[in-house]
Amino acid sequence: MSEETNIHCSFCGRSKTEAEMMIAGVDAHICDRCVEQAGGILHTELGEAPQSSPLDVAGKVEFDFTPVQIKAHLDEYIIGQEQAKRTMAVAVYNHYKRIGLVPLKDAPEVDKSNIVIVGNTGTGKTLMARTIAKLLNVPFTIVDATVLTEAGYVGEDVESILTRLLQAADYDLPKAQVGIVFIDEIDKIARKGDNPSITRDVSGEGVQQGLLKLLEGSKVNVPPKGGRKHPDQKYIEVDTTNILFVAGGAFVGIEKKIGSRLNSASLGYSKESRQHVEDDEVLSYITPSDLKSYGLIPELIGRMPIVTFMSPLDKKALRAILTLPKNALIKQYQHLFHMDEISLTFDEAVYDYIVEIALDYSLGARGLRSVCEAVLTDHMFDAPGLEAKEIHITLEYAKSQIERSSLRKAI
Ligand code: ADP
Repeated sequence: MSEETNIHCSFCGRSKTEAEMMIAGVDAHICDRCVEQAGGILHTELGEAPQSSPLDVAGKVEFDFTPVQIKAHLDEYIIGQEQAKRTMAVAVYNHYKRIGLVPLKDAPEVDKSNIVIVGNTGTGKTLMARTIAKLLNVPFTIVDATVLTEAGYVGEDVESILTRLLQAADYDLPKAQVGIVFIDEIDKIARKGDNPSITRDVSGEGVQQGLLKLLEGSKVNVPPKGGRKHPDQKYIEVDTTNILFVAGGAFVGIEKKIGSRLNSASLGYSKESRQHVEDDEVLSYITPSDLKSYGLIPELIGRMPIVTFMSPLDKKALRAILTLPKNALIKQYQHLFHMDEISLTFDEAVYDYIVEIALDYSLGARGLRSVCEAVLTDHMFDAPGLEAKEIHITLEYAKSQIERSSLRKAI
């Protein structure tokens, strides 16, 4: 007899192979089902309701924010992006209201409000989703759509998304079931009509198909430790109905598609009545149909009905991002130095200089960090061992550090 069949639950007698999980005690074992039953008995005896449904947990999420409050919270961390912040605030509010709804008889089912955010890299898409998850105190995970592949191919199954969410929730299933998932680079799995590589094309569309069942809300068997599914594995069943999915992507070149749609829409009108749309404004006219012409399949777009956009960050925005948000970069560095009891100050002109270099770098706000690192690395290396308790960064110093850095050569 194998060791597996030899182990039995000391309560119900089921063998290990029949059970999802077997927990060993000093001299006995207990199976998952008995643990659950025992938990139920305890709750009944102690007069507590078992907390297993997402609805109960939604109660625990303590969702008592209005859209205005959500937006105000986002304002503390995210510069600009007014339209996106409003759209997100409303979508998130509706989503959690929907979870918290007491299911009244005959009440209409409120559809889920998964979201797509279109915008260049480093404009704050991830920051937006992360900030909301933190505010609501729900588990949050980021996955990169490019590592996902259709089942059977090299890469990660789409279910791995839920494994990560479970991990972020410390395997607390009800909590994970009301979490937020950010799917980055969703544009990279677009179907490319004119792509000569057929295999790549198929894999992109296959992943989109795979995502459908997650997004629409269904029960998915998830390998708790990730990795490929295989027949002998024990799964955790995750209900995705109340998980909020936010997808982000740069959708490079989508402005052209929006532009041509706008142009053809205005055909037939007199020249005067045609709206003149500035290049950097085009994105604000984005609709789901543009995502379709970019190569997302209609079924997927249908399951992410809310589309919003992040504007490219200009000089003024970058300058604000550097110093204003609650966890602004400069504040972070000052904090790091402060931990060594060193006060860090800058000439105002240094901030503008950092922004200028970051703009050349074309990485959105992400460029700011690389520039700050280049300016401050020497001090971060030397300062902790020195007597000096004050460091002041002048424009000359910042310039000389950048000139010496690899950064300058990279631009
Ligand atoms: P994306 O997901 O759009 O590529 P991220 O959200 O990862 O960009 O942004 C990278 C970093 O840049 C963030 O950690 C944040 O510090 C900063 N950042 C980007 N956009 C903004 C913004 N609008 N307001 C404040 N900080 C921002």
